[in-house]
Parts: sequence; structure tokens; C-alpha cells
Amino acid sequence: MGDPAVIPLEYLFADTPGPGELREVVSGVYWLRMPLPMALDHINLYLLEDSDGWWLIDTGIALGPTQSLWEQVFARHLQGKPVKAVLATHYHPDHIGMAGWLCERWRVPFYMTQAEYLSGLAFSRMQPEHFSWSSAQHLRRAGFSEAHIEKVAGRFSGFGDYITPMPMAYRRLVDGASLAIGGRRWRVVVGRGHSPEHACLYCEPLNTLISGDQVIPRITSNVSVMGGEPEANPLKDWLASHEHLLEALPADALVLPAHNAPFVGLHTRLRHLIEHHEEHLLALEEACASGARTALELLPVLFQRELDDSQLGLAVGECIAHLNYLHQRGQLERSLDERGHYVYRSIDDTLPLRGRRHRSQADGQAPIQV
Ligand SMILES: [Zn+2]
Repeated sequence: MGDPAVIPLEYLFADTPGPGELREVVSGVYWLRMPLPMALDHINLYLLEDSDGWWLIDTGIALGPTQSLWEQVFARHLQGKPVKAVLATHYHPDHIGMAGWLCERWRVPFYMTQAEYLSGLAFSRMQPEHFSWSSAQHLRRAGFSEAHIEKVAGRFSGFGDYITPMPMAYRRLVDGASLAIGGRRWRVVVGRGHSPEHACLYCEPLNTLISGDQVIPRITSNVSVMGGEPEANPLKDWLASHEHLLEALPADALVLPAHNAPFVGLHTRLRHLIEHHEEHLLALEEACASGARTALELLPVLFQRELDDSQLGLAVGECIAHLNYLHQRGQLERSLDERGHYVYRSIDDTLPLRGRRHRSQADGQAPIQV
């Protein structure tokens, strides 16, 4: 018997809008899909209709047909009104890729939170020579061999190639602020962990949340520790944000995510994701009870599938996010071995014997950068 208050996850539509097509999801809110040249093959963007123009929420990656699809939308679907603002939920290239071009083309303001804007500027200007001793050290500590580090260094770049130059000015979004669009208020709800200061937008009269990558119904957002901040604890932020969203937003809100498709069942999905990470944490703690392991050696605990090179960096980053969380909570001991690798041991080495809690098999989903 399920809890009657639990709203099961349910998608709103059986299909998706075609390339360059807009679909009205609720009054004045339109869904547009853009292609991505990777395993995750699409991003959802949203257009909000205002009395005197359009707000674009996220922009697509600056690769492939994105620009021509935008021109198609402008030619066919704006109903004689201009674009009046561009807003990006966070700094990843599928979200800010076309922001610079769009803001130039329409000469309109760009809205973003401060940490996301500054992160986008920094990553978009990174060059191959910015792979430093600290980047190498981060990989070595994760358990990479010197040969493997050299290979990664050779492929290193920022993501300047996937985005048009960032807008040189922005308008700052902050948690709790609201935007008046189409006669309704959209409240900024900040989440953390996938990126530093991710903006979601919630409209109470429509009971609708534009969730970006903060809440996605099927795939799980990447939560990673990277070389630029090796002691970061993004999983702590991610879990705290999920608790915050459970409190701040209604269970029956319509959710418009940046990947997969619009759905209801927000609280169900948030609770599932919290459990998913708790299972991963417990599985790692158990694995570290039987001997000292590196992050690289612990990957099969989280990901049962074979990982290709493009997935490996994200998988290791995600594994370290879980290890930093456990280490900083005092549940794992971390030491540097003679090879320069961090090895992790459970503080409580009786853990596997006690079977503290039944755990389903970690789901083994390959990481996807979104
Ligand atoms: Zn993202």
C-alpha cells in the first residue's frame, strides 16, 4: 500500500516537440528541444512569453545546428515580438553555449547568478596549458598512473570551443528574487552541488518549476569533485539542496527539466535521488571496510558498466564527491600511499558484518555530464 500523499512520477507528454518547434506546456510557457552531439542527445529550453517580448531560458550548445534552429524559431514562432532577455540556469556549455550570440543578436540583457556567470567566464577562457601540477596531483591522488595522467593532460581544454563568447555584462539573479514575466512572478530558487549556484524558476500561479539540471526525472545529474577544488564537498550541497527543494516547493508542481521531459512527481524524484546517493555512500563505506582502496579502484562500486574515456573523468569526479563527503564526516579515513594515491579505509571496520541496512545494488548508471 503506497502513501496516498505520494505523487508518482508521471510524464506530461507521450512525445517531444520536433526540431525548431515550440510546444506550449502551460499558459505562456513553451518547450523547445535542441540537439546535443553526445550520448545525452538533447537539451530542453523554455521560452516565456511577456507582453512585449520573449524570455529565453537556457540556450543550447554552440555546436551543430543550434544556431540555425534558433533562426527557425525566430522566423516562425515569435508572433511578431522580439526576444527581450536571455537567462541561463547554470554555466555548463549546453546551457550557456549560445548566450553570447543570442544577447548580441538581440542586444538584450543576460540573467544569471554570480557564481555561475564567473564560472562560465573562467571555464570558457581556459586553455590547454592550464593543465597544471595541481591538476596532475588531483588525478594521481585519485589513483591514475603517470601514463594515464599524461594522456589526460594531452586532451585537456576548457570548453571555449562549445560556447560563443560569453556576454560581457549580466544581471544578477539571487535566491528568493522574483522576475515579473507575462503578468506573473517567477521566483528564483537556487540549488547547489551540480554547479555552484544553479537557478531554478518557480511560478506559483502556474505551480510550475523550470528546474534546469537541478531536478531531472530519469538521468542523474553529475555531482563531481574536479582538480580546481580538490577538497570540495558538492554532495553535501546537493543533498542539502534536495532537502531545501522538498520544503520550498509543492509535491504536485509541474517540473520542466533541462533533460528528459516535463513531469509531475517532484517530491518522489527528490526522495529517490537522496536515497540513490545514500546507497552509494553506504556501498563505498562497505567496500572500504575490507581494505584500503583508491577512488579509481572504487569505481565499480558505483558504476557496474564499462566506462569509456569521456565518462571516466566524470565517474572519478563523482566517486571523489562521495569519498570527500564520507571523509569530511569522519566516516572514512584517508591517507597518502607511497605511489601518491589517496587510499580510503572505513573507520568502522565491522560495517559489512552488521549489515546496518538493506541496500539495493547501486544502479550502475553511467555518468552523464549535464
Ligand atoms: Zn549541468
